[in-house]
Order: sequence, then structure tokens, then C-alpha cells
Amino acid sequence: MDFKLNMQQELLKKTVRQFAEEEIAPLVDEMERNDQTPPELVRKMGEQGFFGVTAPLEYGGTGMGHVDRVIMLEEIARISAAIAMSLQVLQIGVGMMMEMGTSEQKNRYSPALAQGKILITPAFTESSGGSDLEGMSTKASDKGEYYCINGRKVFITNSHIADAVIIIAKHEETKKFGAFLVEKGEKGFRPGRIEKKMGLFGCYNGEIILDNCQAPKENLFGEKGRGLSAALRGISNYGRTGMAASALGLMQASLEAAVKFAQERTLYGKAISNLAPIQFKIAEIYAELEASRLMSYYAAWLVEQGSKRSDTQTAAAKFFATEASLRCTRKTMDIYGAYSCIKDYPVERYYRDAQLLISADGTSDIKRIIVGRNLTAKKN
Ligand SMILES: Cc1cc2nc3c(=O)[nH]c(=O)nc-3n(C[C@H](O)[C@H](O)[C@H](O)COP(=O)(O)OP(=O)(O)OC[C@H]3O[C@@H](n4cnc5c(N)ncnc54)[C@H](O)[C@@H]3O)c2cc1C
Repeated sequence: MDFKLNMQQELLKKTVRQFAEEEIAPLVDEMERNDQTPPELVRKMGEQGFFGVTAPLEYGGTGMGHVDRVIMLEEIARISAAIAMSLQVLQIGVGMMMEMGTSEQKNRYSPALAQGKILITPAFTESSGGSDLEGMSTKASDKGEYYCINGRKVFITNSHIADAVIIIAKHEETKKFGAFLVEKGEKGFRPGRIEKKMGLFGCYNGEIILDNCQAPKENLFGEKGRGLSAALRGISNYGRTGMAASALGLMQASLEAAVKFAQERTLYGKAISNLAPIQFKIAEIYAELEASRLMSYYAAWLVEQGSKRSDTQTAAAKFFATEASLRCTRKTMDIYGAYSCIKDYPVERYYRDAQLLISADGTSDIKRIIVGRNLTAKKN
């Protein structure tokens, strides 16, 4: 067992950290004000190969693994969880295309997809409830040359910058779910309202409206009638570890902020880092971060092995790390006292952003259900 990152991973971590500090950090205040994803930043991340981190070289990707992706997202979330969220969801789009797209589809969108020149985002959730995937009411009707799709997706990350979406809709004829690639130029496709969230400013979440939208027949994505399993595969293999990685970045940023403030803030003539309760909080943040990191790297490593049994670990890593990030960012706020709630310091942003990671990509209780069900299932 080797707990060290290899040389390539160390270099990746260093390079992405430098990129995040130089290219993303200066944009954070503006994103907090205007809640928009900077297009120039998307272009630069594309040039760096961030979108195609797990895509094979032959499709313009960097051919790295899922652990590498977690390392990358953690470093980005350390500076901006909003940009990590936007990026990680677009990476799900790339991953789903690479795993489930036909060779014609892969060739059509490559290498632009891996380079971030075309952005594909997954759109599953409806107002009927993200947990109840089978309750989705978006429908696709076979019209011979095209599918006619009607429905409304909500909370979709990158809704207003995506060039195409992967829509899950029920085939009217068979009542089974299919996955469909719908480009923003298609007739009947339009982004709806943008949600005004409490955090993750700089990452769009909004509606995708499909009003008699015409998707060409060749845009059926994955196997016919296997749309739900395509969605679950995207969530399980990419979404959960992506969210866990974002939580790691928030915890790392929180830990650094907590230590710095504790060393600089003086009370009773001494730095508050000398006070035992302050040290306890810092120790707890550190322990939660390390535990979450081990779980997240292990889950990503399992996905990388192509293991069929990674859903327990990815679900556990997702709920544990995201909930830990909420506890840790809260503890950092406590260390800051009243300064925690003023915008001069980033810690209130960490806390707000951490809350949004809990339900995104499936709530903690849904993940607990998956873990509990898997662990208690009778073996044949
Ligand atoms: C920041 C953010 C980004 C997102 N990005 C995307 C995206 O890009 N694409 C996309 O498709 N969706 C996206 N979503 C939606 C997300 O996937 C859903 O919010 C999530 O699946 C939960 O759905 P819901 O919010 O409708 O909650 P609901 O499903 O309505 O759940 C409500 C409550 O009921 C509980 N519950 C549900 N079922 C059960 C059960 N069987 N047993 C016990 N308790 C249960 C839940 O745990 C929760 O507490 C995003 C959400 C957020 C916040």
C-alpha cells in the first residue's frame, strides 16, 4: 500500500494549484457579485485540458484517471467551489460521452468536447424530485426522423453556458427511459430561469425547457431504453467523486484559513492558537479532511479499476465528505468569531458553498440508502 501521490500526480496538483491561484482567485469577488461563470476562464481551463481529464488521448483528452480528476477538482475548489462544481459537471458530460456515446457521436464532438470548446451538461432532475428519477415526466416521442421531446429540467448546472445537454426522457411508445443529446440550437430548446442560490456564485443552475424539441434520431445516447442506467452510471462514476473532491477543496481552504486566523488573532496578549478549544477545532477539521480524502481517493481509485462494486464507496465518500465540509467550514467560522460573517474573509463563502454540496448529485440520505442497502443485501 502506497499513500503517496506519484510524480505525475504531484505535478498535476502543483500545476492546478498554480492555475487556480493565478487565474481563478482574482475572479472570485466578481463572481460573488455577478453570479456568472467567466467565459474567458472556461476557455483557459479548456486549453489546460481540464475538461477532458479522463478522456482518452485519441479523443483529445489527457488520458488521466479518476484519482487525478479528484486531485484537480480539490485544488480548484480550494479557491472556488463554484468553478469546481461547473467543471465537475461538465466532466460528467465528457465522461458519459466517452463511456456511452456511439463512435459517430464521439467523433462528432471530439476533440472540442475534451478541450471545453463544446460544453455538454447532464440534465436529469425535474421539479417532481431529483431523488425519484423514475418519476420524471419528460417525454420523447418517435417521429420517424427525429424524437420530439417535451419537458422541463430544473437545477441544471451550466444551464446557461452549455452547448448541449444529455436529457433523460421517457419513450412514449415503450414507457422506458432513454438518454438524448440535445443541442442548444435545436428547435424547441431553451434555457429557462436561472436559480438565485445562497452560494456557489459563478456557477449557473437553471432550467432547461424542451417544448416540442426536435432531437435528430442519431442523437439517441447510449442504448435505447437504458437512459436511467446511463444517468446512474454518470452520477456514480463521476458525480459522487466530483462532489466529494469539491468538499475536500473547501475543507482544505477552511483549514488553512482557520490556522492563519488563529495564529494572527490575539486575545489576552497571546494568539488564540494557544487556546485549547481553538486547537481542538483545528484538529477536528484536519481529521475530517484526512478521513474524507482517504475515502474519496479510494472511491475514485475503485472507479478507475473498472470495479463493479464501487457504488458503496462512491456514495459513502460523497455523503461523508460533503457533510464533513459543512461541519468543518462551520468550525472555521466559529474560530473567526464575529469576523466570520463579514465578506472581508472568505469563510462565510466556504460555509454557504458547503451547504449546496449536500443535495447536489443526490442527497445524503439517498446515498445512505445506497450504502445501507448494499451492505445489508443478502449474498447469493
Ligand atoms: C448546486 C446543485 C447543482 C445541481 N446540478 C444538477 C445537474 O447538473 N443536473 C441535474 O440533473 N440535477 C442537478 N441538481 C439537482 C440534484 O441532483 C437534486 O437536488 C437532488 O437529486 C435531490 O433532489 P431534490 O432537490 O428534488 O430533493 P427531493 O428528491 O425532493 O428530496 C427531498 C428530501 O426527501 C428525501 N428523500 C427523497 N427520497 C427519499 C427516500 N426514498 N427515503 C428517505 N428520504 C428521501 C431527500 O433526502 C431530501 O431530504 C443540482 C442540485 C444542486 C443543489
